[in-house]
Amino acid sequence: MARIYFIDVTNRDGVQTARLGLSKLEKTMINMYLNEMGVFQSEFGFPTTRHESFYLQANLELAEMGVLQPIRLGGWVRATVTDVERAFELVPGIRHLNLSISTSDQMIQGKFQGTKSREDIVSMMVDAVICAKAHGTETVGVNAEDASRTETDFLIEFGRAAIEHGAERFRYCDTLGYDNPFTIYSNARMLAEKLGMPIEIHCHNDLGMAVANSLAGARGAVDGGQDAYINTTINGIGERAGNADLVATALAITKAKGFAEGYRLETPVDLTRAWKISKFASYAFGVPIPINQPGVGANAFAHGSGIHADGVLKDPENYELYSFDEVGRGEPEIVDTGSQICSGQYGGISGFKRIMGQMAVKFKDEAQGERILELVRYANVASQRPLVEDELLFIAKYPGIVKKLLTLIPPD
Ligand SMILES: [Zn+2]
Repeated sequence: MARIYFIDVTNRDGVQTARLGLSKLEKTMINMYLNEMGVFQSEFGFPTTRHESFYLQANLELAEMGVLQPIRLGGWVRATVTDVERAFELVPGIRHLNLSISTSDQMIQGKFQGTKSREDIVSMMVDAVICAKAHGTETVGVNAEDASRTETDFLIEFGRAAIEHGAERFRYCDTLGYDNPFTIYSNARMLAEKLGMPIEIHCHNDLGMAVANSLAGARGAVDGGQDAYINTTINGIGERAGNADLVATALAITKAKGFAEGYRLETPVDLTRAWKISKFASYAFGVPIPINQPGVGANAFAHGSGIHADGVLKDPENYELYSFDEVGRGEPEIVDTGSQICSGQYGGISGFKRIMGQMAVKFKDEAQGERILELVRYANVASQRPLVEDELLFIAKYPGIVKKLLTLIPPD
C-alpha cells in the first residue's frame, strides 16, 4: 500500500508571502521543530538567492551533525539550467531539489508572452533535471506550476519526460486554489496511474479548500498506486489566502471519518508538537493564530453554550473530536507581570546572564558569555523582537552555526 508523506514548505512558500518574512535563525528553528514533529521534508529555502546561502549551508551542516535528522532538506529553484547551476555554485552540499516551471497555457502565454511553446517548457525542464542529476542531486521533484489549469494530456507528457530523465516526484501545484476535492482526486489518481511515480500535492486556499484538496489529492495518488507527498505550511501561512495548514492536515489525515483506515502516513507526525510549532510560527511571522484555527486556536476547545458546556463536563467526547493534549495543549502559560529583563541588540552581560541562568545555562568563562551575548544581539537585529527560550538555548549550543546564520554579505 502506498503511503503519505509531509513536505512542509513554510520556509519557501510561507516566507515568500507578501508582507511576511522570517530571519535565518527563525527559519532554522522552524526546521528544528518540523524535525522534532516527524515531518518528512522541509522545503528549506531558495538556493539561488544569495542571502540564503549561509543559512542553507548551516542547516545542511546541522543535518550532517545529526541535529537536523532524519528530516530531509530540499531547495526550490526554477526549472532552468541556469538556476540549477547557480544553486550548486552557492550551496554545493544541496542534495534534494524541486524544479518549478509553469505548465498551463494561461501562464505559458501570459508569463512568457509568446516566447515559449509547450515543447520549450518540456525541454527546459528536462535540461534542468539532467543538470541536477549530473550534480549528484539525490531526489528531484518537478513542479507543474498551475497544474490545475493545465490540459491533462500535457501534464502527462510533462511528467513522462521528467521521469524518463530521472526525476523522482511530480508536484501537482494547484497554484491558484482552483481545484475542488473531486477534481484533484481524479487528476492525482490519473497522474499516479499514467506516470507511475509519486505525486506531490500542493494546494492553496483561495476557495477555502486547501486542506480538503490535499486529502483528496493524496487519496487519489494512493488509489493510483503511488506514494503521496502533501505540501503544508505552519498555520497555513502562504501566498494570498495561504496553503494547506500543517496541523489541520495532520489532524484531518488521522481523525477524519474513515480516512486513516485506508490512507496512512509513512511515519506518524507527532501532533503533541503542534501547539509549540504553531505558537512559534505565529510569533516569528508576527501573525496571530485565528481564534477558530483547528487544534491550536484559542477557541478550539472552548465551550460557552450551556448545552455544550454541560455535555463536555459529562464527557469531553460529546463535543470534542480530539482532546487538547493530543495537540500539545494543557500546560498553563505563565505571564510575568513584574520586572522583566529582555535580551536585545543593545543588551548587556549582567541581564543576559540572568536570563540564561533562569534556563540553567552556565558559561564556562566571561569570554564565552560575551560571545554568546554578541550572537544574541545580532539575532535580535535580524528578528526585531525578543528571542524565545529555544532560540537562546540554540545559540548557546551551536554558536558556530548561528554565526553563519547571521552572516549576510551583500555582493559588490
Ligand atoms: Zn504555492
